[in-house]
Amino acid sequence: MAYVALYRQWRPQDFENLVGQKHISVTLKNAIVSGKIAHAYLFSGPRGTGKTSTAKILAKSLNCIHGPTPEPCNVCLNCQSINTGTSMDVFEIDAASNRGIDEIRELRETVKFAPVDGRYKVYIIDEVHMLTTEAFNALLKTLEEPPAHVVFILATTEAHKIPATIHSRCQRYDFRRIDAEAIEGRLTAVVQHEGLNVAPDALKLIASHADGGLRDALSILDQCTTMENGIITAEKVRQLLGLIGHEWVWSITEALAERDFKAVLMALGELIALGKEVRQILLEVALYMRSIMLFKAAPDIDSIELYGDDRNVLAKHGEQFKHDELIDMIKILNEGANDAKWAPEPRITAEMTLLSLCRRSAQADMANLLERIAILEEKVSGQSFPRIEPPIIKQVETVRPPTPVKPVVVQPVSPKSIEKVEVKQEISNEQPQTEPVVSSSSSSSDVKEIWDNVLKELVAGGKRSVHACVSQGKLISLDDKQAIVQFAAAFPKERTEKEDYRIMIEKVLTQFCGKTVQLCCILGSAAVAPKAAALPPKEKPVTTASPLEEVHPALRQAIHMFGGKVIKKEEYKGD
Ligand SMILES: [Zn+2]
Repeated sequence: MAYVALYRQWRPQDFENLVGQKHISVTLKNAIVSGKIAHAYLFSGPRGTGKTSTAKILAKSLNCIHGPTPEPCNVCLNCQSINTGTSMDVFEIDAASNRGIDEIRELRETVKFAPVDGRYKVYIIDEVHMLTTEAFNALLKTLEEPPAHVVFILATTEAHKIPATIHSRCQRYDFRRIDAEAIEGRLTAVVQHEGLNVAPDALKLIASHADGGLRDALSILDQCTTMENGIITAEKVRQLLGLIGHEWVWSITEALAERDFKAVLMALGELIALGKEVRQILLEVALYMRSIMLFKAAPDIDSIELYGDDRNVLAKHGEQFKHDELIDMIKILNEGANDAKWAPEPRITAEMTLLSLCRRSAQADMANLLERIAILEEKVSGQSFPRIEPPIIKQVETVRPPTPVKPVVVQPVSPKSIEKVEVKQEISNEQPQTEPVVSSSSSSSDVKEIWDNVLKELVAGGKRSVHACVSQGKLISLDDKQAIVQFAAAFPKERTEKEDYRIMIEKVLTQFCGKTVQLCCILGSAAVAPKAAALPPKEKPVTTASPLEEVHPALRQAIHMFGGKVIKKEEYKGD
């Protein structure tokens, strides 16, 4: 007798043996018992999860001599003819190869006739999403007014491609990916029954590689038993599937943690020499990074299937990577695996990907370092130099039209006299409740928010290259006239200053701060420059003979820090 593949031998023959789809078998059994048979069903779900098998079980349940019954006997003539595919009442149509309107018209002709042996005519249309629009329309006619003895079962892996008109006339059942444990259980039963010699960890590996499809799992098992006469080990399964294996992935992971590019490259070279596929290498490293990420996030979770499910190793590697690092690494690996699919020389893609993983770690460290320096600088400057409003901002205030409430104070003020400005400020400070001083410059948190919004807007507007350049700068000051953006490096600064980028940024800035501002780019380090940058360029030192409490706060601060006294007072003569 010809050999029958394992997945066909072990196709479930009744609802009891349907693996991993209890929600569906229970509902269908209830429907059969209560006689509420729909005239059209839509079975959707990934391949190998039991859609066609369920359709056949349902057909048997309806047509079994002892039926309709939730437990078809599988012995009677009707059941057997359905099992062997010779039933005159059950039609299996593959929509992938019969997708035209003619096939559906033909089907409509036969629908009219009563069933030959059973109670129902059952039409199982596999891969129904492959039908043409015309064919769907023809099918719709039949679904609208089906004869009472007809049941349609439409099966698809891509339910979103089914027209809504068809969809709404079907009862939909979503088949789930079968979890690895259930697949492993089924494989164990098969192995025991068939007397196969397979190591438990090999079964585990097959189950997790099948990605929720029992048919795939059984096919792999079949292939393994054909290839190997002795005991089937995990290593042999790995060879057959071209898998890289935990040990290799672990050593690559460790090299990545150490940023040891040489070790990573050597591992890659050896794996390629062993005939492993470049894309598979990247994918498995990505899978393992995901495992580390999930394990780090929730170490006690058991329900998630983890690659390299050795908790001790996961815990060890979890300490070597930060969460953000892992997320970035998985992104880079996925992109690399995608690129490798189309690259003329995938090895180069893999090398680039792994190199950027090593370098990315270094960049992340650098970013952390910079962040810490910035925090320290802020702390230091916060203690020694309480924030002093730059004089220019008050000058701007004085040239504004005088407010009707306090004309006496503002009118005599000369816009170029800092001394007078000070007087005004002190008067204002005496009555902060009645008339607070409104600064025309935005506060640092506002500035940060505006800048974040500008950057987001660039991304939203699809200006990714502009964003990549401009985001290297930081908005440090924003007043009525200009926005000062500080860059640490010369290139992004110069690029941003060029007309095309500058106009674009100014436009977005205007949109967020509600006034037209000019963009001014500067070079410099983080903490000191903001205040300096807002000062007018021609400012001269101010000295005064007034008592200490009357001098400018900046000067007061300087005297406080360095000692000394005021010996001469000079008016500030700006331009
Ligand atoms: Zn039967």
